[in-house]
Amino acid sequence: MITIKSGAEQAKMRKAGRIVADFLKAIEAEVAVGVTTAELDRFAEKFIRSKGGSPAFKGYHGFPATICASVNEEVVHGMPGKRKLEGGDIIGVDVGAIVDGYYADAARTFAVGPISEENDRLLKAARGALNAGIAAVKPGNRISDISHAVQQHIAPYGYGIVRQYVGHGIGTHLHEEPQIPNYGKPNQGAEIKVGMAFAIEPMVNAGTHEVKVLADGWTVVTADGRPSSHFENTVLVTQSGAELITEYA
Ligand code: MG
Repeated sequence: MITIKSGAEQAKMRKAGRIVADFLKAIEAEVAVGVTTAELDRFAEKFIRSKGGSPAFKGYHGFPATICASVNEEVVHGMPGKRKLEGGDIIGVDVGAIVDGYYADAARTFAVGPISEENDRLLKAARGALNAGIAAVKPGNRISDISHAVQQHIAPYGYGIVRQYVGHGIGTHLHEEPQIPNYGKPNQGAEIKVGMAFAIEPMVNAGTHEVKVLADGWTVVTADGRPSSHFENTVLVTQSGAELITEYA
């Protein structure tokens, strides 16, 4: 069942969303050559707790960290550790925060110093796909209209869209119904209604859409070793479309 959030519930989600947005803005300044993903993770936990939130990923199915840090060929669920960022890398930072039992979840892929034209194009395509998906969030549309919009945006690039991992409903749990794939025919699935909340999150690979999981049991990498980009926002459905509660300027 897809739950409809009351005004009071939406207010709590906005608080969690504000922490996530402020964190993403802050971490962008911490991403630099020589920094390890474990250092970024420590920054993240301190930041979120200092703003009155709790890290949503820490302890989730045993995940040990506050952020997922996915570098280059890592797609999602990258385990923070000793990996040092190098110039030209791209790093996906995915984070969730909980306030009063309500969740927000978002991700950005950042450039580490100047990056190749190929990587820049990949990041812009993935960000554009997120925006396209969000533009399909309207009362009366159906869930797969979001999926289809993401796919249509990526199609001209010839990139691989990850299939095993999908967007999702969100609220009192990190992952709620419905699942929101990043591909599919339009006009399928549940009708989108005011008060629903979604985390929309295209994962776009430069090459094949195929992925595999590393021996740590978490880190998802592209099957061909080519880079991948991930962007995500949590949105509330309003009369006029989507309110982006994890966006920052
Ligand atoms: Mg998510």
